[in-house]
Amino acid sequence: MPAISSVNPSPQMSSTLAINTKVRALRAQGHSVLQLGFGEARFPVHPLVLAALKAHAAERSYLPVAGLPELRAAIAAYYRRRMGINAAAGQVIVGSGSKSLLFAALHALKGDLLLPIPSWVSYETHAFLTGKTTHWIPTSFENNHCLTAEDLAAGIKAAKTAGASPGILILNSPHNPTGVMYPPALLESLAQVAKAENITIISDEIYALTAYGDVPHTSIARYYPEGTIITGGLSKHLSLGGWRLGAAIVPDNEFGQALHRYMSAVAGAIWTTAAAPIQYAAIVAYSNNPEIDAYVDACTAVHGYVTGYLYGVMQALHIPAPQPAGGFYLFPGFAPWRAALAEKHHVRTSQQLADLLLQEANCATLPGSDFGADPLDLTLRLATSYLYAQTDAEAEAVLEAHRNNLSPADLLRQTCPGVLEMEERLRQFVAGLGKPG
Ligand code: PMP
Ligand code: GLU
Repeated sequence: MPAISSVNPSPQMSSTLAINTKVRALRAQGHSVLQLGFGEARFPVHPLVLAALKAHAAERSYLPVAGLPELRAAIAAYYRRRMGINAAAGQVIVGSGSKSLLFAALHALKGDLLLPIPSWVSYETHAFLTGKTTHWIPTSFENNHCLTAEDLAAGIKAAKTAGASPGILILNSPHNPTGVMYPPALLESLAQVAKAENITIISDEIYALTAYGDVPHTSIARYYPEGTIITGGLSKHLSLGGWRLGAAIVPDNEFGQALHRYMSAVAGAIWTTAAAPIQYAAIVAYSNNPEIDAYVDACTAVHGYVTGYLYGVMQALHIPAPQPAGGFYLFPGFAPWRAALAEKHHVRTSQQLADLLLQEANCATLPGSDFGADPLDLTLRLATSYLYAQTDAEAEAVLEAHRNNLSPADLLRQTCPGVLEMEERLRQFVAGLGKPG
């Protein structure tokens, strides 16, 4: 009999992708499931970017492994202009989504991985696939689940005590699953600890341009340029997840050059380079174009209205959740209903809670435990981005309402019925559980 590798445990299927498949199947069977499990920005491709793709559809040659030189230059210029990062084209490597680059960076770097609780689902699998141990570092609700300098120092110590060699920290801001942004002062203090402890930071900034709070996104690379790798791409702010175009920026030093060579070798061995027509279109996506900038800002504003609105609903229902400021996620906890959930529904873990919400309210979510949270915390990750646009026409209508300066409340009422439907289902679900404890 042929057999597959006996690696134990085997790698986990990404739960975000698994819930996407599950919801599609449920909908195909006729269930009216609200999709809050999968986080995907759903606005139409910007016309200028689409035109560039069409114009280059016939490009069929393999391109340079690290990406087209013009694209790498455009990405470096973009980071200088929009993120205040002093990047040069030579520091950029383009990949098939930023996921591939996160994997390549972890493969290249020495040491075990430190991850704040909660963290996005794929990092631990990347660490597993690259033979690294993951050490989870607790964070607190009071700190919005942001890692503090003290948490990091304690986490490094605990990992060492457990016999590991912590060498890498993945930080993500704006954050999936909480939607929270790290304030600049916190990033600065984390950078100091990382520097002192010789920890390399992978700063996952895929949501940087979806920051809708009062404070703009800041990269920790500003405080620790010599030891930070930034990853990002087009998936979120331009709704181009399916185009699979990501970029990493390595430090401007010898370490960065060695890292670039290593990551390029991984790329060359596995995905060769990102798809050629997509790379040509990405030059336009990364260009200095006020029209595209305004489009990104409009999409981000809508993510902010919807996510902020549902955050307000949760507050009114006394569901604790960190206040989101970027991306399209919420991370509520149902601990106030712990007793009622256990008594009425035999629900004790976040997975059981997610299953119950799907069964009772037809809302697909992901359990906090998929993001490293204690299953008993009863946290869920809600992705709001599928609530307001199933089709391009619906997404266009929401943007049009925004352009016409509709108030957020009218915009939601007129163009986002899914959001109000979600509000109603959540209200009913919570009402069925009784008063919060
Ligand atoms: N990081 C985070 C936190 C994400 O949510 C995603 C979503 N796909 C990614 C990285 C990877 O994005 P992509 O591979 O599409 O660039
Ligand atoms: N990042 C999205 C999420 O967390 C989904 C896409 C992915 O996981 O690759 O839901």
